[in-house]
Amino acid sequence: MEIISVIPRGYCAGVVRAIRIARETVQKYPGQPVTMLGMIVHNRFVVEACRALGIQFVEDPAKTRLELLDEVKEGVVIFTAHGVSDAVRRKAEAKGLTVVDATCKDVTKTHELVRRHASSGDVIYIGKKRHPESEGTVSLSDRVHLVTSIEEAEELPPLENVLITCQTTLSLLDTAEIIAACRKKYPDAVIAEEICTATRIRQEAVMALENVDLLIVVGDRRSNNSGQLKAIGLSHGIPHALLIDSEEDLREEDIRGYERIAVTSGSSTPNLLTAGVIQALQHYAETGELVTKKISITQIL
Ligand code: SF4
Repeated sequence: MEIISVIPRGYCAGVVRAIRIARETVQKYPGQPVTMLGMIVHNRFVVEACRALGIQFVEDPAKTRLELLDEVKEGVVIFTAHGVSDAVRRKAEAKGLTVVDATCKDVTKTHELVRRHASSGDVIYIGKKRHPESEGTVSLSDRVHLVTSIEEAEELPPLENVLITCQTTLSLLDTAEIIAACRKKYPDAVIAEEICTATRIRQEAVMALENVDLLIVVGDRRSNNSGQLKAIGLSHGIPHALLIDSEEDLREEDIRGYERIAVTSGSSTPNLLTAGVIQALQHYAETGELVTKKISITQIL
């Protein structure tokens, strides 16, 4: 059995920055409640490690960021790397909260593009429903239209002066197909595909894999970019793919009999978790014995 560690993988610059901001905020405002509006990143280990630092979280997938803000009564509120709408910013300030913004600069760039264009035209925004990033971007203007599939693109009403853009963590392949469907309907539309470099190069590294019979993606099931890596592997000829949180989820029956196993991880996955999976697999390849460790939250941040 050969184990291939895919490069690049794991934390992107936006996630590293958000975690640094979270740590610094706790130190800067001692004695004040510090609340994260949503999950800092879609990874339960990172969330638990932040909780251990004293950060509180308000999170409910059924609620928007604007609604979640009702639950933050005082102190400091941190906006996550996914970004928020202008309405969320205004509401936080009106409540007298101290705002700390960890929005990734790639998301901010998309927001600026959308705001600029929506002042004179319509924006088709390709994204995921109920994802915090798409929620924040779509709420910037009434002229932003969320599209999640080719079918939805085909059902769009007549629009003027159209810009087509997208969420930063989408699949390169799926997005290209939806853009093509939009382009067919609005041939004069301007295209600004905004999948970020971190997402792009992690997906391209999976597409470049050859003769791999199992792809293991280390990442949280709620992490959009981790899920995309698994889907891209399967659509690029890798016959089997697993998405696991950490080495704690490795089962011998899931890895037995494979010749070449590639391991990657989403940009919200701590490198320690991926390294643990790779080590456990290498040990299994050498000895035939699967030994996994329990993850210690104290080592995550
Ligand atoms: S995945 Fe891309 S957009 Fe999201 S935080 Fe990382 S660099 Fe920023």
